[in-house]
Amino acid sequence: MQRSNWLKDHPNFPNFIGASKPRVLLVTGSSPKECDNPVGDHYLLKSTKNKLDYCRIHGIEIFYNMALLDAEMAGFWAKLPLLRKLLLSHPEVELLWWMDSDALFTDVSSEVPWERYKDYNLVMHGRDKMVYDRKSWIGLNTGSFLLRNCQWSLDILDAWAFMGPEREIRDEAGKILTRELKDRTAFEADDQSAMVYLLATQRDKWGDKVYLESEYYLHGYWGILVDIIEEMIKNYRPGLGDHRWPLVTHFVGCKPCAKFGDDPVERCLRQMDRAFNFGDKQILNMYGFTHMSLASTRVKRIRNETSNPQLG
Ligand code: UDP
Ligand code: MN
Repeated sequence: MQRSNWLKDHPNFPNFIGASKPRVLLVTGSSPKECDNPVGDHYLLKSTKNKLDYCRIHGIEIFYNMALLDAEMAGFWAKLPLLRKLLLSHPEVELLWWMDSDALFTDVSSEVPWERYKDYNLVMHGRDKMVYDRKSWIGLNTGSFLLRNCQWSLDILDAWAFMGPEREIRDEAGKILTRELKDRTAFEADDQSAMVYLLATQRDKWGDKVYLESEYYLHGYWGILVDIIEEMIKNYRPGLGDHRWPLVTHFVGCKPCAKFGDDPVERCLRQMDRAFNFGDKQILNMYGFTHMSLASTRVKRIRNETSNPQLG
């Protein structure tokens, strides 16, 4: 209601940047504290630069959050109260795009197919079968998703937050999720499992407004993508967004900021550098430069003069 009132009061406000492009706010963030592993802060900076570049090119604004808005909802749950606040505070925004700090844009020229989602309120990378039939906790990913600014979204955020509060509720809910979801190891309730559980148990209530996308990588798992970047560069071109040139590469489980991660940290950091340079090479190319290699921070000139970087 607030949003429709706002739109009535601002009849001349350009609601669409282009003909078919909604007004989008990309939301990301990290812990209020410095990283336990000091090099992690450098990777947060790289990830932020990567998002700034993509968003500048695509006419998207950014909100970076470092505040814990609800003490009960720390860690991966922190995005929920944040998104709720932003939906209410930004009636001019049509869609929020949450993106984890450990997710990088690796296809800088790829645009989200906005038209496809005009009748949906929540868009996540995932597969219907995996979520609704198999109830797999990796049937969707909550590291990069789109959320429409409307009452439905406020409602689903409330329903979704139910398993989040620390500690008893989250620990107890974790047991339910491990019991009910496929292949989930035993740990406290996480936002991703909670979303799978919510959709699988209340499909009637939410399902028709949720779009599970698998045609391209709104989120792509780094483990299957970063090893083959050289092949992508050799065989394909930017703008595809899928396994051939992924829009987003997400370093699930890497935890560069923490002391110890699930995966060996060294491998993670090396692969994050490669993915960052892959994306950054596409930015530098616009200005007539390129990275010497995916493993190197050094750059070289590929053209002598540049005029309009967007035109190359
Ligand atoms: N996050 C945050 N504040 C915190 C901790 C985490 O905003 O205090 C965000 C951060 O963007 C992070 C995301 O929550 O990327 C989810 O956590 P993570 O990426 O470590 O989980 P994974 O993708 O590995 O499951
Ligand atoms: Mn993540």
